[in-house]
Amino acid sequence: MATALPPLVCAAPGGLAVDVGGGEPLAMIDPWRPAHLAIITHAHADHAYRGSQRYLCAQPGAGVLRARMGKDAVVEGVPYGQPLRVEGRGGAVEITFFPAGHVLGSAQVRLRVLESRFPADERTWVVTGDCNFTARETDPNPTCARFEPVRCDVLLVESTFGLPIYRWPDPREEFAGLNQWWRANAAAGRTSIVLAYGLGKAQRVLAGLDPTIGPIGVHGAVEKLIPEYKNEGVALPETVHTTQKARKGLRGVGLVVAPPGILGTAWLRGLGDSRTSMASGFMLVRGRRRWRSFDHGCVISDHADWPGLLGIVEASGAKAVGVTHGASEPLAKYLRETRGLETFTVPTRYRGEAQEVAADVEASEGE
Ligand SMILES: [Zn+2]
Repeated sequence: MATALPPLVCAAPGGLAVDVGGGEPLAMIDPWRPAHLAIITHAHADHAYRGSQRYLCAQPGAGVLRARMGKDAVVEGVPYGQPLRVEGRGGAVEITFFPAGHVLGSAQVRLRVLESRFPADERTWVVTGDCNFTARETDPNPTCARFEPVRCDVLLVESTFGLPIYRWPDPREEFAGLNQWWRANAAAGRTSIVLAYGLGKAQRVLAGLDPTIGPIGVHGAVEKLIPEYKNEGVALPETVHTTQKARKGLRGVGLVVAPPGILGTAWLRGLGDSRTSMASGFMLVRGRRRWRSFDHGCVISDHADWPGLLGIVEASGAKAVGVTHGASEPLAKYLRETRGLETFTVPTRYRGEAQEVAADVEASEGE
């Protein structure tokens, strides 16, 4: 009786394993347990864990990954689109990173078997990691490379917002509303606080602000990653780190970008009379004014909405689609029933945007 060949990429106890039949994985993708080779889609805390012997990522993300994995971590950045041969026991695979449009350096990973001692899975695989795609030309995220569709046979796609209710408004309008809110707060002598996770969302918010309204402050968790963005040529407005002294100049007129963990802390009280806005895709459905006690909501997400996810699947040409994160089964069912695709769901620990917020709260503690 023929035994089914193991797929090139499969869910394993410590993450997604890249397996060419060598008895142990050739590499792990975004492992949450230490691995000898960790292929990292991006540096968010639910995808990048410390302790692996060696890390591979897309070159624009190497700086932020090093900042998060510690200076002793062995991090190798590979330019987008440049194939890399990775060898190990059992065979060799070709790995290529392509822009995922999520945060600085975020990458989809394309994998192909080059050599195998056993009958190999000859399909081309793409693991999107967290990704953001829109067909809207007016919707660029100036803080990272735009998502690039990649053809493949099997696509593993994240689906944080994999329900038809998720359709993002035009970000230009969201930023116009945010700037208007800031202007009104400043006119009333109030400080504006925008809550956004420190890697990616915070910088995207900064890039959308109108610096002529007033001074812009950043919490330490946001401040420490700004040099990595500037090193990669991302233009951001002038900001001040919210030290005790700098807070005086921001009080009543400035806008401060900080991680959600500062809510209810003494740090926040130092900024005087303030109003808070939350920048998240979740602000779309939880009620702009009702999600906790925010005064304002900005529907800006670094994840694809429902039309974006369908666009990613279609552009890939994949006949088989595995879905991870969030609402995985509704998307899988939709793809089976309307597109006739073979689908499966992939259990992972990734939590998408909610986890990014939670992880940032942890990362910002003590700052
Ligand atoms: Zn992420």
